[in-house]
Amino acid sequence: MFSNKNPWNFKKLFDMPVSCPQCGQRYELEPGFWYGTGYVSYALSVALSVTTFVAWFVLIGMSTSDNRFFFWLGTNIFLLIALQPWLMRLSRVIYLYFFVKYDPNHKDKPAVGE
Ligand SMILES: [Zn+2]
Repeated sequence: MFSNKNPWNFKKLFDMPVSCPQCGQRYELEPGFWYGTGYVSYALSVALSVTTFVAWFVLIGMSTSDNRFFFWLGTNIFLLIALQPWLMRLSRVIYLYFFVKYDPNHKDKPAVGE
């Protein structure tokens, strides 16, 4: 779905063909279509934070008497920033999937939004 395989190549982060090379489905269904991905990436970020919090709680533990909570917070923020390009791409894939379902018979049907 993306022209460049490496999401950390910032210049090409959102380089995409206009439509799918396999089935011809357009990616950007309407102008501004990708604005909705903000909600998806927000949900992914929250989910990731919950995951790291639980992992930290189990592996390292949390206490109100020391700074472990803040170490988690710092680690989590770093992780979210480091993974942001990947999360942004993933949210485009998930967001598009809300509107375009995988269809094994796509060859016999027009693409969504055509
Ligand atoms: Zn396709």
